[in-house]
Amino acid sequence: MQEFQFFKKKALSFDKLDPLASFRSRFIAEKEEMIYLDGNSLGRMPLETEIKMKSVISQQWAKGLISSWNDHWFDLPQKIAAKLAKILGAHPDEIFVGDSTSINFYKLVFGTLKMQSGKNTILTDNLNFPSDIYLLQGIISQSFPEHRLQIIQSKDGITVEQEDIAHALNEKTALLTLSHVAFKSAFMYNMSEINELAHQKNTVVLWDLSHAVGSVPIRLNADGADLAVGCTYKYLNGGPGAPAFLYVRRDLQEKIVNPIWGWFGHRKPFDFSLDYLPATQSSQFAAGTPHILSLSALEPGLDIILEAGINNLREKSRLQSDFLFEMTKQFLEPLGFSIASPIEAEHRGSHISLRHDEGWRISKAMIDPYQDTKSIIPDFRPPDVIRLGIAPLYNSFTDIYECVKRLREIVKHEYYLSYDQTKSIVT
Ligand SMILES: *Cc1c(COP(=O)(O)O)cnc(C)c1O
Repeated sequence: MQEFQFFKKKALSFDKLDPLASFRSRFIAEKEEMIYLDGNSLGRMPLETEIKMKSVISQQWAKGLISSWNDHWFDLPQKIAAKLAKILGAHPDEIFVGDSTSINFYKLVFGTLKMQSGKNTILTDNLNFPSDIYLLQGIISQSFPEHRLQIIQSKDGITVEQEDIAHALNEKTALLTLSHVAFKSAFMYNMSEINELAHQKNTVVLWDLSHAVGSVPIRLNADGADLAVGCTYKYLNGGPGAPAFLYVRRDLQEKIVNPIWGWFGHRKPFDFSLDYLPATQSSQFAAGTPHILSLSALEPGLDIILEAGINNLREKSRLQSDFLFEMTKQFLEPLGFSIASPIEAEHRGSHISLRHDEGWRISKAMIDPYQDTKSIIPDFRPPDVIRLGIAPLYNSFTDIYECVKRLREIVKHEYYLSYDQTKSIVT
């Protein structure tokens, strides 16, 4: 057993040796009075984004007005898609960037069910993000009433057995859709193995990469992925409501049709023809005018990820989570906390969930600074999960040490008792 103080020294020496340490200053200008462990919900703003947006607004928009469409904006979605393609291990023409994850998910599910006529089952799991499940329910209810949704149940609320997926797949399975990294527990599927299992039954797989992109290496082409969607405001630091993306493998682009036929998905939108003719490749998945301001704000976040290198980020995230687990086992488990994420890094994304019966009030006490301590921002997922989003671009080992120290004090001294049970709208 090491003394608590030992871990402070350990954190400091990790920070000193950290080859990515300088990236923190790309996000945080001055001494910060807050420890932000919620990068898996809304990533921090790169300082470069603020500089860039000033120019986009005051030059491109205010002065350039309509001419900026030709000078700066028309090709912006393709430019951003090409950067995302590098992060996703895909070809640029396989990526569309725009709309929200939910809308892109709708387009690809609808298009897949049309293509897979003759098959009538959709398979997912109960660790998936609620929005995805609602969309599946809605598509079945409104457009595919003969289809059936089968939801595989996790046995421990943390992981899903690959075997259970294998058993559930059959010749009738049109679509299998899963979160690559689960939003609550951070459980991560082996993407290439799942793709292979599904392909044996001619099932199309749609991955939701929202909690994976920017936190773990992704190789869509190499892993045989068919389809994917994901958001860019979490580990990619694209900003609130940043445009989402979708990926359609080249050989599926002619077979899966976007159900939303808007002018930006037309082959020649500025001919203003009255007959729809879909664009080729991923551009056909556009619908309306691209969100230029938020697309512009997304670019610096992508550049930083590419510069840091996803493998380096992953390596740091592993060290940081091991450090957190070591401290949790020694100091927090005796106080009623339990780890609600897979321990082995190869089965986990970058965030870590801790459970405690008093999770809600503890998370409120973390946020509230007292005496000379900093505010610590986690997030909370009902009923009792405190999620700690480790974002190696800007979180230090000392951040993690401080977080455990605070959690320990809050429970040991029962500080959480002075907070009430009321919840705010966004948690
Ligand atoms: C955050 C998240 C989303 C977000 O969907 P939006 O439609 O962009 O709000 C979707 N799926 C998963 C798995 C997520 O974690």
